Amino acid sequence: EGISQPDRPADEISSGEGQTGDLFSKFDPVIAMREGLLAKGVEDPFNLVMEKVLSPTRAVCNGRDTILLGTYNYMGMTFDPDVIAAGEQALNDFGSGTTGSRVLNGTYQGHREVEDALREFYGFDHAMVFSTGYQANLGIISTIAGKGDYIVLDIDSHASIWDGCKLGDAEIVPFKHNDIEAMEKRLKRIPEGAGKLVVLEGVYSMLGDIAPLEEMVAVAKKYGAMVLVDEAHSMGFIGDNGRGVVEQAGVIDDVDFIIGTFSKSVGTVGGFCVSNHPKFEIMRLVCRPYVFTASLPPSVVATACTSIRKLMDGGEKRAHLWENSKALHKGLKDLGFQLGTEEPESAIIAVIMPDLEQGAAMWEALIKGGLYVNLARPPATPANMTLLRCSLCAEHSEEEVGEILAIFEKAGKAVGII
Ligand code: PMP
Repeated sequence: EGISQPDRPADEISSGEGQTGDLFSKFDPVIAMREGLLAKGVEDPFNLVMEKVLSPTRAVCNGRDTILLGTYNYMGMTFDPDVIAAGEQALNDFGSGTTGSRVLNGTYQGHREVEDALREFYGFDHAMVFSTGYQANLGIISTIAGKGDYIVLDIDSHASIWDGCKLGDAEIVPFKHNDIEAMEKRLKRIPEGAGKLVVLEGVYSMLGDIAPLEEMVAVAKKYGAMVLVDEAHSMGFIGDNGRGVVEQAGVIDDVDFIIGTFSKSVGTVGGFCVSNHPKFEIMRLVCRPYVFTASLPPSVVATACTSIRKLMDGGEKRAHLWENSKALHKGLKDLGFQLGTEEPESAIIAVIMPDLEQGAAMWEALIKGGLYVNLARPPATPANMTLLRCSLCAEHSEEEVGEILAIFEKAGKAVGII
């Protein structure tokens, strides 16, 4: 048991009676949870294989034709013919990979072009591309907030934000989710003159709710804090030009850093930070998760660049995705499911399950009915919730949303949730 208390000195831990010294003992509760779940004979929700992907909204999963409602392919760009053509061209012209860091041999023409596209997309002065969004948070947060600085962040922040805090040396001050007053209280207590970074997300991916950015950014500025907003789940969709919740809330010019990813609306992989800070370019030399890793393959940056440029003109797709989000939210609510938000706030609709057991049973009933959603459980979820997270795509048709609701109704009644 001592092993689960990492604060204790190592010699105290290893001298405990009955200790085996097996470093894997700490995973026993997770192993027991998993075995307990599988012993009931349910299909493993964390071991799904897509044998064939037919479109952004359809795949063959575990041998069945399945509607996808648990991807982050919000804008359906993965099969866009221009995106695929750009990737093929770059693969042919530049090869399969760069085999090097951005600061050595890993910056190709395509890396510059995708950073240009990001600068244009957001209207910001600087853009820096990382190998993943996870690394973008890890790198930017740990590098800008160091010893003696303070990071004030929402308690429900994504793991990559928490890990960025841990990698740096700043004081970490969490506040209750989306609570403006709690945030202000924390900021008020920070010693005068100390460096302060407020970290927020546009859309919180577990419940699909958005941050009150207008108020929060104003409070942060009042206390002289810099503001970083992770727009992973809103880029391409929320805001008139798809620039995120910062755009919708009218605060895009007041934030210091926007973090984003290519792994959601952009439809490939990679991460980025955009900023107007005049000294931002120095990050390329001092940010370890940028320097000490290989850059993205040429085909990936080419697909990302093409996709980002097409997303600038994605107004119609954005409007259709909102229609889908509203229709699914209303349909599920009318069926009697408990949802993560009163109104649809993003492309994520979270269905709250009574517990993990019923959540897994419901997940299985849905997959057998031909529908894939994400099963989310603690520690990823807030307040120990088990969730069936539905994430919509602009390529889901109105008919498909109807099909999805029919599958939910049948499964919910069979499992006894509604
Ligand atoms: N930030 C948030 C809020 C996320 O949800 C995620 C991924 N789910 C990331 C960052 C990391 O993105 P990536 O997949 O590019 O590593």
